[in-house]
Amino acid sequence: MKRESLLNPGSTIGIIGGGQLGRMLAMAARQMDYRTIVLDPDPRCPAGQVADGQIVDAYASRSASRDLARAVDVVTYEFENVDADSVSAAAELKPVYPSTSVLRTTQHRLHEKNALLKAGVPVTPFRPVKSLKDLRDAATDFGYPMVLKTATMGYDGKGQFIITRDEDVEKSYDLLSRRDVELIVEQFVAFTMEISAICARTAEGQTATFPPSENIHRDHILDISIVPARISDDVALSARLLATDIAEHLNVVGLIAVEMFVTKENELLVNELAPRPHNSGHYTMDGCDTSQFEQLVRVLAGMPIAEPRLHSPTVMVNLLGEIWEDTGGDPDWERALEMPGVSLHLYGKAEPRVGRKMGHINVVADTVGDALYIATEARNRAWRRSPDL
Ligand code: AMP
Repeated sequence: MKRESLLNPGSTIGIIGGGQLGRMLAMAARQMDYRTIVLDPDPRCPAGQVADGQIVDAYASRSASRDLARAVDVVTYEFENVDADSVSAAAELKPVYPSTSVLRTTQHRLHEKNALLKAGVPVTPFRPVKSLKDLRDAATDFGYPMVLKTATMGYDGKGQFIITRDEDVEKSYDLLSRRDVELIVEQFVAFTMEISAICARTAEGQTATFPPSENIHRDHILDISIVPARISDDVALSARLLATDIAEHLNVVGLIAVEMFVTKENELLVNELAPRPHNSGHYTMDGCDTSQFEQLVRVLAGMPIAEPRLHSPTVMVNLLGEIWEDTGGDPDWERALEMPGVSLHLYGKAEPRVGRKMGHINVVADTVGDALYIATEARNRAWRRSPDL
């Protein structure tokens, strides 16, 4: 369903998914006096704690997503592993942004890569894997290492294996094909850096892209984002243009986060898309004059979007559950917050688990080097660890 007119403050945004992205979206909405209602099965979910209301039910429940649609003016989702059919059910009643077709494309790695190829966007060389023979053939063509991934439901490195030798081919295939989902194999890219760019696009086709962030992963989970990324102006511009191109080709209304590899030759290869706010865009909350969450609220409401500017170098470090585990549930926030330029963002999750995203710290400083030093030091202090620099 298309939106008839712009939504003024006081209107209600429905959010499918109640994690930290939904929470920060609800907080940005609140700033402009938009209301939010969240659909999530956990009554204590991070977004439900700050939203105006919550429907406590499964994401896959079509009746719940219809109830949500009836109660709100516009619907969005905060992660892409939601059930596309239940999102479609909401779309029969109220506008859903980004559209269900964007959701279906981005929740399937093969559909996503094919859509990108069609748009002329360079992607990591890949093959669908329907049999062990397909995987063996890929090894002959790509060589090692290569990365076998499930085409759906994968995130933060879950559902993927790096294959480095002949002996691992069959084992990896057996392990992943057991899950009864389609598989894809990619050539391993010896990248020099991972970056991402987030583009916002309105229903009228206005676009604006946030400055690309340099992303450092640990155990496949984003660990640190550094902005400005330490790349040339040319590469940064190419990344922004690629993200804008992708938003236009996929007809995204909302946000699209584009994760890319920078190769030795300074070429960009797109690895993955996410049609929602992204962990690598959390820096925008303190580093830019408009955050990714405010930008999405503006798109959903049909308001003009901002041309976001980075006002200072900013570094984001994720706070994972191990910090709570290692400190007996008592991180030292006092010492962390003694550091200059530190902003603490916590997601209200009751149970810390290893690898679980519990919060993040943003540090704004005069130089990237200072921001990086202070951010890692602040996290070490919270972790009650000695400095690692
Ligand atoms: P993904 O789930 O596709 O975002 O992958 C998670 C992380 O694994 C990426 O951020 C990369 O660090 C690494 N990775 C995934 N695919 C490849 C690849 N084809 N080549 C090299 N590294 C990869």
